[in-house]
Amino acid sequence: NSFLELNLSRPLLKACEALGYHKPTPIQAACIPLALTGRDICGSALTGSGKTAAFALPVLERLLFRPKHIHAIRVLILTPARELAVQVHSMIEKLSQFTDIRCCLVVGGLSSKVQEAALRSMPDIVVATPGRIIDHLRNSQSVSLEDLAVLILDEADRLLELGFSGEIQELIRLCPKRRQTMLFSATMTEEVDQLVILSLNKPVRLQA
Ligand code: AMP
Repeated sequence: NSFLELNLSRPLLKACEALGYHKPTPIQAACIPLALTGRDICGSALTGSGKTAAFALPVLERLLFRPKHIHAIRVLILTPARELAVQVHSMIEKLSQFTDIRCCLVVGGLSSKVQEAALRSMPDIVVATPGRIIDHLRNSQSVSLEDLAVLILDEADRLLELGFSGEIQELIRLCPKRRQTMLFSATMTEEVDQLVILSLNKPVRLQA
């Protein structure tokens, strides 16, 4: 029961060590090996379970082996609120500190111009709230999700409670059909189940 058993590359193991993570939490031990196989995942997980690293580490592992000549947004992480987006972005910066992977934050309340420039520079990972990323996708020809490999819906129950259902459906339509999708939710409501049916392909269900 150690990170060494999870088939993660050295720069990621080094980051876990630097963060003082000695062993994976249960959701990490279950999610990381499955996510590395490319399967879609539906996880019931509360904040505090270590779910952020559970989806971030396998995504970073995949990105370490991306073709270096393709510059595109490969991973989109949707969160219901700005504060959560800031936390997820900060966690990814820490976990990717020994790599050349770039992550950018796209949320309301930050300068649209600055975010537009950040998106145009083609970061590997975008952490966003739905409204703000849709604005950019609608208004800019240079920002697209056509090379997206992984879509992550974090706190799906809250995304839906806050009324983002339409935005999420629009974003899913802009993503390639062939992609990996991971959805995490504290509660599994009927609405969340509908979203699972809409966005995931033969998901494995995990409970933290
Ligand atoms: P999360 O559930 O993703 O919001 O994470 C909750 C807290 O647990 C964060 O402060 C993480 O830094 C911390 N954390 C995540 N994974 C581990 C781990 N394997 N060992 C110790 N702390 C961790």
